[in-house]
Amino acid sequence: MAEPAPWTCPTCKTGVLTPFCPLCGEEPLKPIDLTLRGIAEKLSHAFTSIDARVLRTARRLLLYPGDLTLAWTEGRRKPYVAPFQLFLVANVIFFFLQSLTGINVFSSSLHSHLHQQDWSELAQALLSNRLEVTRTSIDTYTPIFDRAVVLNAKSLIVLMTVPFSALLPLIFFRKGKPLMLHIVFSLHLYTFLLLVFCLALLAAKACEWSGLGGLDTPVVDNVLSVANLAACALYLYASIGRVYGAKGGVRVLQAVILALAVGVIALGYRFALFLITLYGI
Ligand SMILES: [Zn+2]
Repeated sequence: MAEPAPWTCPTCKTGVLTPFCPLCGEEPLKPIDLTLRGIAEKLSHAFTSIDARVLRTARRLLLYPGDLTLAWTEGRRKPYVAPFQLFLVANVIFFFLQSLTGINVFSSSLHSHLHQQDWSELAQALLSNRLEVTRTSIDTYTPIFDRAVVLNAKSLIVLMTVPFSALLPLIFFRKGKPLMLHIVFSLHLYTFLLLVFCLALLAAKACEWSGLGGLDTPVVDNVLSVANLAACALYLYASIGRVYGAKGGVRVLQAVILALAVGVIALGYRFALFLITLYGI
């Protein structure tokens, strides 16, 4: 970059010799910046650089498991989207695909909670108690619950990263890593998982169209669940080697334990959504 002429930062009122003000990041105003064309150029630059950053980050996340977590904890942050923002982007894509395919992964309907889950008996007991207390009939209550559970599933998905972040320091207690690294590792893992779920949604829809049956068909559900869990275990195996320096047979064991924990947490999340929705409305 060519050395710019000295200029005075309009915000800090100090003389500046670099292309951007070192104090506030302001850049010298050019005549074009006050025209519509200048604004359009700035806007298109902002959008393309966001796209480029998201794509670069997604590539890192998918092709080099663990690398993004290391980059963040080592301070190489500028080229990538920050962990929480990245998680939100994946969340938006996931929920967009859910409404597009009409398949719900976490937000099971009241009917499903009452008849298809492992906790159905408990759910029935809790519900009849709740209906008595609120003096509502199940017919009025069902549509209210089903609307609320979809909203809750969207806003609370980040909750699943909390127990997982708490598990990591227990599994890797000898490594003495800072808490923030565990949290970022969880966010990156769950971002990856949301993208895997997106693929699973598309696969489930394809099965439905080809006549094999959708997610409510046990074979399709089981095959996709096992595929998700396997993808999760492989990704964990790769990334714990990179981030925690896990090695050998212990590394396999750690990856399996963590993948199973992801499965248990997902089930727990579904049940927690039932409770939160039941007592929240
Ligand atoms: Zn300044």
